[in-house]
Amino acid sequence: MKIAIPSEVDAGESRISATPDTVKKLVGLGASVEVASGAGLRSGITDADYEAAGAAVVPTNADALREAAIVLKVRRPGPEELRDYAPDAIVIAIMDPYGHQEALGALAAARVSAFAMELMPRITRAQVMDVLSSQANLAGYRAVIDAAAEFSRAFPMMMTAAGTVPAAKVFVMGAGVAGLQAIATARRLGAVVTATDVRPAAKEQVSSLGAKFVAVEDEEFKQAETAAGYAKPMSAEYQQKQAALVADHIRKQDIVITTALIPGRPAPRLVSAAMVESMRPGSILVDLAVERGGNVEGARPGEVVTTANGVRIVGHLNVAGRLAASASTLYARNLLAFVETLIDAKTRTLAPNWDDELVKATLLTRHGAVVHPNFQPQMD
Ligand code: NAD
Repeated sequence: MKIAIPSEVDAGESRISATPDTVKKLVGLGASVEVASGAGLRSGITDADYEAAGAAVVPTNADALREAAIVLKVRRPGPEELRDYAPDAIVIAIMDPYGHQEALGALAAARVSAFAMELMPRITRAQVMDVLSSQANLAGYRAVIDAAAEFSRAFPMMMTAAGTVPAAKVFVMGAGVAGLQAIATARRLGAVVTATDVRPAAKEQVSSLGAKFVAVEDEEFKQAETAAGYAKPMSAEYQQKQAALVADHIRKQDIVITTALIPGRPAPRLVSAAMVESMRPGSILVDLAVERGGNVEGARPGEVVTTANGVRIVGHLNVAGRLAASASTLYARNLLAFVETLIDAKTRTLAPNWDDELVKATLLTRHGAVVHPNFQPQMD
């Protein structure tokens, strides 16, 4: 049973799908692990580190992929990469399937069994495999660090002989995993923090971190959480009320960090150009939803935009990847935990249970077809 760790081919991807720690455990499960030379460098892992953990380091991705039963990846492989995959290989990655039917077709055409880690159900058993949480947590932290680096004033209140510097005012929009970590980080840096969300459950979590909760708490708000714990898309009426409340609050803020997402849909637009213009020069917005369409009007993927009145909108891509070593450590452990469920510990062979709820929830393609109910071609 060979497991391949190819280099990520996307230039914007600094993370890697295995660490020496997880390689050791994969070898312990009975696998032979082959890592493409240089695959871990951007996460600070050398070929020698992988070799010391029990992997064989091979010159190219094609070498690692040859006859591999399992391929561990960060990003979905494209048609070029898939040429080197063995038919029926299992490939596990962040597949970004929504709106990418063609890419799913390519996975099916390559006859691989493709698993999307981001579709893992958020149940207790799968908590250790939750890539959305592991990566969002780091992104939330990094968003605050990025904001602090762009901001020309201090975060904490400083009382000095030369006078007092006021604490920065930080507003976090969307208090899920990323937002809660952003709140905690901004608080640790000494900012005065407020936060909003449409899910009532977020209120207590925000308060417990020492931030003030700001939201339109009407009847719709009370019903805004799905059974899976995610936000529902809100009505136009709610969005208007929310915008009015937020508009008044935002103009008094120094830093706004937005993290609002709705699974499978474009990110909700929460901050208009007028709201951005109402902020003082030197204020910073960080839009963590920029890859999914953005919460902030004027945010551009991969860019830091300075508006006419001197407000900066930060739209870094792959924010967790800006902490590549930490992100890889956690992501690799998420993958390892899932791989463990696919291997029979007694026979030390690959033995996926295709009826397991984790498998059913994450399997996109198998035997040449798209098999996931959410991505059937006719439902496009
Ligand atoms: P997410 O990334 O889907 O969205 C981020 C946040 O944006 C969410 O809190 C959402 O409510 C919020 N949001 C959406 N629309 C908004 C709007 N119009 N205005 C303001 N905020 C808006 O969410 P997430 O971080 O993945 O977390 C979703 C929930 O799942 C949370 O309750 C979290 O605690 C929970 N969770 C559970 C588990 C588990 O049980 N294993 C693991 C992780 C997260």
